[in-house]
Amino acid sequence: MPEGDTIFRAARALQKALSGKVVTAFETGLAKLASLNDDTPLVGRTVEKIEARGKWCLMFFSGDLILVTHMLMSGTWHIYKIGEKWWQPKSRMRVAITCGDYQAVAFNVPIAEFHTTRSLERNSQIPKLGPDVLADDFSIEAGVWALRDRAASHPDDEIAVVLLNQRVLAGLGNVYKSEVAFAANVNPFRQMSTITEREMIMMVEASHKYMKANVLDGSGDGIVTYTGNRRTTHSMDSSDRLWVYGRSGKECRRCGATILMRKQGEQARSTYWCPSCQPWHEMANDPSNNLR
Ligand SMILES: [Zn+2]
Repeated sequence: MPEGDTIFRAARALQKALSGKVVTAFETGLAKLASLNDDTPLVGRTVEKIEARGKWCLMFFSGDLILVTHMLMSGTWHIYKIGEKWWQPKSRMRVAITCGDYQAVAFNVPIAEFHTTRSLERNSQIPKLGPDVLADDFSIEAGVWALRDRAASHPDDEIAVVLLNQRVLAGLGNVYKSEVAFAANVNPFRQMSTITEREMIMMVEASHKYMKANVLDGSGDGIVTYTGNRRTTHSMDSSDRLWVYGRSGKECRRCGATILMRKQGEQARSTYWCPSCQPWHEMANDPSNNLR
């Protein structure tokens, strides 16, 4: 049975193979999907993005169509190059989506449904996303509220894991997670219960600022634009523009200490930080705790 991180990895692999590509063929063994596909064909649509939410895999296509699959039990997505032999028998195929050279095949998924943004919003089983840091109506208050809410319900969660949790704040990737914690001088391994209101505000502001800058910058690959450095060509090393991400063993651009890296959370994502700019605060040493 796939665990959350397996689904997360599957979604990432699907995203890498298919996103931005046009669907050239669609096949399904499910009558409901087949009839919906007759009315609103999948072929010709562009794969916009693929994301994991809990045990669900969401595949977004242009024209407001979302294929939602539940990966409970033996459900799984495979990616094949065209002509490659499938690892499971065709009888288990539920959905097969071809985009040029690649084919994504869902075997044995117990649930596969098409949704629109609206029907997805109304569905109470599929986890919702948190406020989107890139949305036009995003407010710092809403972002801080989401962090505060998470701190109340999951006080032991580590802050950098929470920053990546799309159900808390949507839009931050693994690069920004480290950059945002650095911007607020917050040690990425601190538990939510130790994060102050002021730090939450700084992190939400940094998230918003970095993501907007990245979109304006046009690189769109999760690379932050660090202020104070010239933006020149696309060929320049992206890590030149980051404070901590990808810089373990190098000097902190602010204080000169050595940047560290450690795998963090269930998904073992790389987290970078400066031990001097982002010191570890023990809860017990904080006198304000006695006031709670
Ligand atoms: Zn530093």
